[in-house]
Amino acid sequence: MEWETIIGLEIHAELATASKMFSPCPVVDGTETEPNAAVDEFSLGLPGTLPTINRKALEYATRVALALDCEIPPYHRFARKNYFYPDLPKGYQISQYEQPLALHGKVAIDTGQEQKIIRIRRTHLEEDTGKLSHPDGRISLVDYNRAGVPLLEIVSEPDLRSADEAEAYAQKLRSIMRYLGVNHGDMSKGVLRLEANVSVRPIGEERFRQRTEIKNLNSLRSLKRAIQAEAERQIALWEKGEEVRPATIGWDEGRQDLVIQRYKEEADEYRYFPEPDLPTMHLPREWVEEQRASLVELPEAKRTRFLQDYDLAQQEADVLVSERAVAEYFEELIQAGIDPKSAAHWIMGELFALMNRDQLEKEQFAQIPIRSAALAELLNLLKTEQISRASAVTVLTEMWQRTESAAAIVQRLGLQLVDDDREVKREIRQVLEANPNLVLRYHAGEEKLFGALMGMVMRALAGRGKPALVRQLLTAELINGTSNGDLS
Ligand code: ADP
Ligand code: MG
Repeated sequence: MEWETIIGLEIHAELATASKMFSPCPVVDGTETEPNAAVDEFSLGLPGTLPTINRKALEYATRVALALDCEIPPYHRFARKNYFYPDLPKGYQISQYEQPLALHGKVAIDTGQEQKIIRIRRTHLEEDTGKLSHPDGRISLVDYNRAGVPLLEIVSEPDLRSADEAEAYAQKLRSIMRYLGVNHGDMSKGVLRLEANVSVRPIGEERFRQRTEIKNLNSLRSLKRAIQAEAERQIALWEKGEEVRPATIGWDEGRQDLVIQRYKEEADEYRYFPEPDLPTMHLPREWVEEQRASLVELPEAKRTRFLQDYDLAQQEADVLVSERAVAEYFEELIQAGIDPKSAAHWIMGELFALMNRDQLEKEQFAQIPIRSAALAELLNLLKTEQISRASAVTVLTEMWQRTESAAAIVQRLGLQLVDDDREVKREIRQVLEANPNLVLRYHAGEEKLFGALMGMVMRALAGRGKPALVRQLLTAELINGTSNGDLS
């Protein structure tokens, strides 16, 4: 039997605000700060503290929702999600339930062959919890730096059909949030966390089968592997005639395997009720429209424009727009007079190769040591035939290492192409004199020998010959013969 995998993703994105969701307590980088250095009475849930809403978080969340084409209802409301856990000192998390910030969005993903629309069910604001660690398995430590950090939850409809689609979707959302500057997207720091709801069904079956939920996936690689492993597990169960039971599953990064944490025979009971300490929020239309107007051009729109304005392949456009810094760099090159094909080629070919060599991720593109103006200068030397292609790559590699202009490196390494007709003619004559047989056969009609002679002259010029000039002078030399000794 042929099976298909059904996936709905829940993404938790911390919003890059200066302070927490409901108090002025600063937000810090959890991987670089002492535990419990950024806490206040509210993060600790001390009695008598009251929440106030972070305006920036509301703005950021609204921008993401608008970028995902969501509807923003005029009223939304926070709700208490009640449960006990040591990382949640209040005993409840302020979240949203019946009246979330945004509903019914959609986003296009690139599946390799086509664009596919994935529907967004809802997007809501909440506060993050603290962080537990269990250093020796006997004691548990808790760090409340993260408690109260603004968290945006984005829930998709079950529209994804493979681990690859789930990855493309997560990547697209990360790209959008990075464009908007609301989340840095660094999954290793936990600012973006994924949960995958997974079920399988025989191809052709209409209804959905029982799903399970895989929690806390902290990399795209884990996301893919966990979905694949869980789909296989479920298929094996159904094929044995057993049932898939609803379960919460973890992913063991070390063993690269699923860990069934608990089977849940009924839905969790969180006793949600409207948060009594916060008012129903009303977002005026004008305010929402202001947020919409403030949106930067997003990857999808950029992709369409790039395909229209520049002669690019789809795959090139996809890669160039996935990171805002890359897209901007590309257009800066074009503004500096570089043609789009060559700009795309030098970014995706040569710059990405250097990044790869130095183990830089694509998200770190803004940090590369070569500014677009400097690369444009190099590419103009290439365009005006002052250096060869091979030399341009050498110069680029030098520029990556030190702050020296392309022209200065060309000077220093003596890479200028030979512009002097006489020098070129001298080399041509030496080659022709050393190879009288080839010249005879060429004149007897073996025209393809021109290429071989051309190659020899280029080699004699140590790669510094301008192909067009060499071709022209070699043609002239072959027509005139080599005996007239004219060195003018
Ligand atoms: P809950 O509120 O209990 O988390 P939801 O119905 O809101 O449940 O769904 C949560 C997530 O599960 C959504 O992303 C949704 O797309 C996904 N989902 C729902 N049904 C299925 C299914 N049969 N297979 C895979 N994912 C599903
Ligand atoms: Mg859920």
